[in-house]
Amino acid sequence: MSTPSKKVFVASRLPKNTGVSGWVAMLPARQAKLRLEGHITADVVVIGGGFAGLSAARRIMELDPTLDIAVLEAGVIGEAAAGRNSGFIIDLPHEVSSEDYGGDSTTRSREAIEISRTAIALAGTVAQEQGWGREIFDPCGRYSVAISDEGDRHLVDYAKGLVKLGEKHQLLNAREIADVTGTNTYTSALFTPGTIMVQPAAYIRGVADSLRDPVRIFENTPAVQLENAGRGWFVKTPQGSISTGRIILANNGHAESFGFFKSRLLHVFTFASMTREFDPSRLPGQRKWAATPALPMGTTVRRIQGQAGDRILIRSRYTYHHNIEASETTLRRAGAKHDQKYHARFPQLPDVPMEYRWGGAMALTWNSVPAFGEIEPGLFAACGCNGVGATKATANGIAAADLMLGVKSRLTEIFARFDAPKSLPRQPFRTIGAKANLAFREWRAGGE
Ligand SMILES: Cc1cc2nc3c(=O)[nH]c(=O)nc-3n(C[C@H](O)[C@H](O)[C@H](O)COP(=O)(O)OP(=O)(O)OC[C@H]3O[C@@H](n4cnc5c(N)ncnc54)[C@H](O)[C@@H]3O)c2cc1C
Repeated sequence: MSTPSKKVFVASRLPKNTGVSGWVAMLPARQAKLRLEGHITADVVVIGGGFAGLSAARRIMELDPTLDIAVLEAGVIGEAAAGRNSGFIIDLPHEVSSEDYGGDSTTRSREAIEISRTAIALAGTVAQEQGWGREIFDPCGRYSVAISDEGDRHLVDYAKGLVKLGEKHQLLNAREIADVTGTNTYTSALFTPGTIMVQPAAYIRGVADSLRDPVRIFENTPAVQLENAGRGWFVKTPQGSISTGRIILANNGHAESFGFFKSRLLHVFTFASMTREFDPSRLPGQRKWAATPALPMGTTVRRIQGQAGDRILIRSRYTYHHNIEASETTLRRAGAKHDQKYHARFPQLPDVPMEYRWGGAMALTWNSVPAFGEIEPGLFAACGCNGVGATKATANGIAAADLMLGVKSRLTEIFARFDAPKSLPRQPFRTIGAKANLAFREWRAGGE
């Protein structure tokens, strides 16, 4: 009898975070869970403690509480993208200019909304269990804001699409959105009520805390090598190892660091800056609101209400990094753009500087599908967040858990119809193309 040949996948690089996330800095210090030392066994190993990985672990725990799950997080929960985003858990497709709202694509739009609402349902259950107040989990909805004629037109088109889909919304004129935001910058807006706003670092820590025995989380424990000799998997970490039957790979772009989805993931970073606290009476309007740009690639803005004052968050800039690492220089350049956009919107606050700046990695696919499915026997991928991971990566995790346990759900049905991620042009054309495309799209977004 011949023994199956051993397959080995070695991580060529590990994640690095750029800058200090204001969301983490605002929270009390947290004791990281122990790193893995020595050898253990587990029924399932989840690699990655972000939206996808923790949601997968949570879903497996709900479906079969007897399964012994080990979650490996390379760094600390909340420090990577899942804890350093802008905190929008969005129910509707992001790009208001998207052609998804055309006649033939109504079914696709409805399925995208179903995917998002499944993720939101999981988030809602965690919020209830944890007893969170609105400072962590706020079902307050979102404004899409325009700053130009083109942006205004997009919002009107988008609203037409929402009528067709039967989704609630409200168009606002310049004065009405100024009453909300306290700035006269915006020319119009569209309010949709289904987005949940979270304190992302608190949220993702809370999802981790919701995992109970026999789920174990190991922090500062990257998976560095995966081996399969036909009788299950052997996962190596710097100081330990795990024998397991099944793996969920939920490390987003770093799936490619193991050689999976080679040339199919675009490693795009985006950046945020957060002001220090200011006296709320200095800025009229509501004390908390959240706005995404009418045009894709524009600027996200959030006002955060705090006990010692309010803060403004600005998120903009997209940069491509084939090595999944953004430098401090790239962060500084993004920060300079943030300052311009901030001062243009809030001339009332000339002396309130940014206190924190940070960047984070996303993994996009050319055809906007997840990097998903059983990619080796017993190895399931829940990667390729496509930019809106609070919903999409959460859904990827839930769907991967369902697929692994053989559960037929609406998510597995919808995910089964997705194409595989399309192959990207080879280097150096990929880098040149990605950079040129991002620069062009940012230029088109103008001041938005
Ligand atoms: C500034 C900014 C603002 C954003 N705003 C929003 C927003 O408002 N709404 C939204 O939906 N999305 C937003 N995003 C995108 C969102 O954060 C990502 O889409 C999301 O975090 C992806 O989730 P994930 O679980 O797939 O990956 P991640 O959150 O990146 O989690 C993957 C985890 O895997 C770990 N890992 C990697 N390699 C290994 C390894 N070898 N072993 C163990 N662990 C490993 C990483 O440390 C990481 O914790 C934003 C992103 C940024 C940077």
